[in-house]
Amino acid sequence: MDRDIKQLIEQMTLEEKAGLCSGLDFWHLKGIERLGIPSIMVTDGPHGLRKQREGTDHVGLFDSVPATCFPSAAGVASSWDRDLIRRMGEALGEECQAEDVAVLLGPGANIKRSPLCGRNFEYFSEDPYLSSEMAASHIQGVQSQGVGTSLKHFAANNQEHRRMTSDSVVDERTLREIYLASFEGAVKQAQPWTVMCSYNKVNGTFVSENEYLLTDILKDEWGLEGFVVSDWGAVNERTDGLAAGLELEMPASGGAGDRQIVDAVRNGKLPEEKLDRAVERLLSIIFKAVDNKKPNASYDPEAHHRLAREVARESMVLLKNEEGILPLRREGKIAVIGELAVKARYQGGGSSHIKPTKLEEIREEIVKSAGSRAQVTYEQGYKLDSDATDIQLATEAVRAAAQADVAVLFAGLPDRYESEGYDRTHLRLPENQIELIRALAAEQPNLVVVLSNGSPVEMPWISSAKAVLEAYLGGQALGGAIADLLFGDANPCGKLAETFPKRIEDNPSYLFYFGEGDRAEYREGIFVGYRYYDAKKVEPLFPFGYGLSYTTFMYSDLALDRAQFRDDEKVTVSVKVVNTGNRSGKEIVQLYVRDKETTVIRPVKELKGYAKVELHPGERKTVSFTLNKRSFAFYDTEMKDWRVETGEFEILIGKSSSDIVLTGNVQVQSTAVRNKKYTRNSTIGDLMQDPATRPILTDLLAKRSPFGSVDAGEASDLMEAMMKDMPLRGLAAFSGGAMSEEALEGILAALNQAG
Ligand code: BGC
Repeated sequence: MDRDIKQLIEQMTLEEKAGLCSGLDFWHLKGIERLGIPSIMVTDGPHGLRKQREGTDHVGLFDSVPATCFPSAAGVASSWDRDLIRRMGEALGEECQAEDVAVLLGPGANIKRSPLCGRNFEYFSEDPYLSSEMAASHIQGVQSQGVGTSLKHFAANNQEHRRMTSDSVVDERTLREIYLASFEGAVKQAQPWTVMCSYNKVNGTFVSENEYLLTDILKDEWGLEGFVVSDWGAVNERTDGLAAGLELEMPASGGAGDRQIVDAVRNGKLPEEKLDRAVERLLSIIFKAVDNKKPNASYDPEAHHRLAREVARESMVLLKNEEGILPLRREGKIAVIGELAVKARYQGGGSSHIKPTKLEEIREEIVKSAGSRAQVTYEQGYKLDSDATDIQLATEAVRAAAQADVAVLFAGLPDRYESEGYDRTHLRLPENQIELIRALAAEQPNLVVVLSNGSPVEMPWISSAKAVLEAYLGGQALGGAIADLLFGDANPCGKLAETFPKRIEDNPSYLFYFGEGDRAEYREGIFVGYRYYDAKKVEPLFPFGYGLSYTTFMYSDLALDRAQFRDDEKVTVSVKVVNTGNRSGKEIVQLYVRDKETTVIRPVKELKGYAKVELHPGERKTVSFTLNKRSFAFYDTEMKDWRVETGEFEILIGKSSSDIVLTGNVQVQSTAVRNKKYTRNSTIGDLMQDPATRPILTDLLAKRSPFGSVDAGEASDLMEAMMKDMPLRGLAAFSGGAMSEEALEGILAALNQAG
C-alpha cells in the first residue's frame, strides 16, 4: 500500500517520534493508534521461533509456543547448501506469519574466531564468504514469506566473556576482510529488514554508538535500507546511539531513552532531521510488515519436521570411516550406548532456546530403522550431568558392547559446557565420556562415535573409534537423521565449515583469546581459521571443508573462460565431477584463490566459490563458478577500498581446504588508480615493480649504478638484492658527488609524473 511516510512524520509530536525509537516491552515496538501505526512483534531466532507466552525473559527461561527446531547454524553451515537454507528460512517465515511475528531475530553472521566462543553453535563459519552466503540464503528464505530478519550481532562480537563491555581491537584490514565481510555479503545480497548491533565496543566505541559501522559502512556503503536494532540491553548512551545510526533500542527502556532523545532535540544537541530519518526507517519496515501480513496464516508442523530431518541429514559430517564400518548392516547385535542417545542435545542454550513441536529420540529411531533382523540394545554408559565415571554404568556398557557386533556411542557436550553468555575454557569432552570411549574400544573394535556439540572438540581418543559422525546440534529431527545416515538410507554429505584443531593451543587466537580485562586484541589479524593453519603448516585434526561420503568423486577438466582479464570483468571457472562409487551422493566442490605475486601479506588461499552437486553412480556433471574483482582483492587501507594487484593468480579446486585436486592460472589486470607519491625514500625495488616507473629506473641504473659495474653471476645477483631495498636517495649518496640533490629532485619529479 502506498503511504506518505514523510507526511505521517510531520503529524507526529516530538515525543511520539522519540517513543518509536524504543520498544514497548521486551518483544514489541510501540504503535501510535491515532495515526494508524500498529505495534509489531520481533522475536528470536535464529533456527526456530521463540515466541514467549509470558514474562520478560530473554534467555530462554520461560516457556515459548511450540515451533520447529531446526539444526543450529554450526550444523546448517556444514550443509554448504544455499537452497536448503533458503527452504529452511521459508519454513521459519511461515511459522512467524502463523504466530504474528513480524521480524525473526537472526541469523548470526559472526566469525568463529576461536572454537571456545560459547555461542559458536549459533554462528556459521570461520570463513566470511561461506558465512555470508549462508546468512544471505537464510534471510532470503525468511523474507520471501513477508517476514523480516535481524542479521546479528554486528560486529566483531566473537566472544561471550564480558560481552557487554569488551572492546574488540581489530585492525582495519582484518575488520574489512574477515569480520565485516561476513555481514557485507548478506546485507548486499539479501537486504535484511533489520541489523542487530552487538553489545561490545569496536576499537574503543560501543557498536551501538559507532557511526563508522552503523552509518558510514552499513547504510552508506553497503546500502542497508532497513533499520538497526540494539541487541537487548546494548544501548550505552541513547542519544549518541541515535546520532550514530541506531534507530531502535530494545527492550523497552521505561521511557528513559525516549526522554534523552527529546531533551537532546530540544537543547539542540541532536538535529531533529536525524530523528526524522530514524523514524522514517522504522516506519518503512513497520508498514512493510503490515503490508506483508498474511491473515489467518498457518503451517504444517509435520512438513516442517520432515524438512528439519532433511536439513539435519545434510548438516552432519562424517569425519572418519575405517574399513567401511558405516553404513551399519541391518543384522546382528547393535549396542547403542550413551545417555545422549535418549536425552539428545539438539539445540544450544540461551536466547535461541526454543520449544520443539516434537522431538525424535535417537535410540528409538535406530531401533525403528534397524528392522527386525537386527537386535538393538541400550546402555546409559555415563551420566550427562557429571564428569565423573560411574563405574557401574560404564561396566554395563562395556559388557553390552563386548557382546554386540558393533557399538555406537553417543558422546558430546552437555548443556553446561557451551551456551550463550559464557565461553568454553577447553575443547575436551567430559572425562567420563573419554574414559568410556577407551574402555569400549578395548573390548569392541567396531566402535562408532556420534558427536553432539555446537563447536569442535579435541579427539585424543580418535584412534579408538573406527567411525566418527559429527552430528552438531541437529534440531528436533536429529534422531531420524542420524539413523538415516548410520544405516545408509542417506549418504553423508556435510563438510566442516570450521577447522577442528588437534588441540586448542593450535588455534591462531589462542594466545590472545579473550583478552585482558575489557580489551580483546585481535592480534592474529586476518589469519583466522584455515588461513592460519595453511600459512603456518600446522596440521589440524580435520581441515576446513572436510567431510566424507559413502561414495567417491573424481574431478577433472578444470577450465577458465579466459586466461587473463581486467578486474572490472568476470571470469568463469568450470570443473567436471563424476561419482566414481556405487551410491548416489552429494559433493561440495570448493574453489580457492591464491595470489601468486602479492606484495602484501595475504593468506595462502581463500575460499571464493563453492557448489553442492548431487550425482548418481557413474554420473558426471559440470559445475561452474563466476569470479569477480572481490574474489581476487584485498582491502587496501591506504586507498580505503578493495584492490587487486596486477599479476598471476592461482585457482585451486578442492575437496577440502587441504585436499586440492586441480589448479589453474589466470592473469589479472588491476584497474585501481593509486595516488601514491614516490619520495626520496621509495625503494629501488618498489620503483622497479611499478611498470610505469621501471623504464626510467632501468635507464638510470644502466648509466649510473651506485656500486659501479659488476660482472655477471653471483656478484651481480648480490648487488641486485642489495639494491632492491635501497632508497632512491642512496643513488645520490653513493654517487660520490656525481648526482646532485637537484638532479635527484628532477628524477623524483619524472618518476611521479610517470607513476
Ligand atoms: C542476544 C540476542 C537475542 C536477544 C533477544 C540477546 O541477549 O544476544 O541474540 O536476539 O537477546 O533475546
